Amino acid sequence: MLIVMSYTAGQAEIDAVVNAVEGMGYKARPIPGSERTAIGVLGNTGYVDDVVIRDLPGVQEVIHVSKPYKLVSRAFHPQSSIIEVCGVRIGEGCPPVVAAGPCAVEGEEQIIKTALAVKAAGAVLLRGGAFKPRTGPHTFQGLREEGLKLLAAAGKESGLPIVTEVMSPENVGVVAEYADLLQVGARNMQNFDLLRELGRIRKPVLLKRGMSATIEEFLAAAEYILAEGNPNVILCERGIRTFETATRNTLDLSVVPLIKEMSHLPIMVDPSHATGKRTLVSPMAKAALVAGAHGILVEVHPEPEKALSDGPQSLTFQGFDKLMEEIVKLRQFLGFAG
Ligand code: PEP
Ligand code: MN
Repeated sequence: MLIVMSYTAGQAEIDAVVNAVEGMGYKARPIPGSERTAIGVLGNTGYVDDVVIRDLPGVQEVIHVSKPYKLVSRAFHPQSSIIEVCGVRIGEGCPPVVAAGPCAVEGEEQIIKTALAVKAAGAVLLRGGAFKPRTGPHTFQGLREEGLKLLAAAGKESGLPIVTEVMSPENVGVVAEYADLLQVGARNMQNFDLLRELGRIRKPVLLKRGMSATIEEFLAAAEYILAEGNPNVILCERGIRTFETATRNTLDLSVVPLIKEMSHLPIMVDPSHATGKRTLVSPMAKAALVAGAHGILVEVHPEPEKALSDGPQSLTFQGFDKLMEEIVKLRQFLGFAG
């Protein structure tokens, strides 16, 4: 951290800042300049909270060199992390994975049928929401624990590990009983109590980017989970809000290579919520893989026109089969066998 003093700051103000820094247990090194003095802070091993510094008299600006995320940063952990979900390996160097299934678990027949269809097409994870974060309270809210049971049954029947959303810290226990990968939805990316609770379990977490979150906020959210002791986090880009209304969100694909530079954690892409439109899902799923995503999360429904949520962005079984055929070729093109 570098503290830039105002050109009007005198020695007494500089000394007060030096004392405050030393009071925090760090070393302070004043660097006198021709117009003003800067004070370098040394000895910290991560982000320094500047709360007791920034309002001291004579302080003009505090420049942070360390980021608010350390554990997730590549600087701290240069080697890419591979996260395993029931034997499915996700991360750099592994063939990109496909997680597929309905937006919401709606009933036994729907989820079992979908599980078998996506498995046959080549998906390696089954998705399905039981606790649904809906924009309004008058729409289908999910089958909750009953949905988890149906999802677990479909996972068993198909042999696919399951990924499902958890919305509140109180439900981490019950969701973790059934799920193999616990999803944090975009709306909960900064639900810090939820993130902390997920840090206390060992099961892997799929953390979706908030719809208006910067990359720094996204990584800092992941840091909460790692800081509590759970290193098994997979990031997921799912589109952000912009001025554009022609698509549900704007898929920010540049974060895929950017996150790979900044963090060792795997990054997946959800082209369904990113676009909101069935015809755009396959093109953007393929684009995500070319950009280097470690996997994609796709909504698939046996009868999208009858879906209780997100029908317009859900692929039919036929549409998903076609996408998977293309992904097989793409994997080969990208240097992965099969
Ligand atoms: C979902 O995956 O069903 C979902 C609600 O996604 P998001 O949180 O990205 O909107
Ligand atoms: Mn959905």
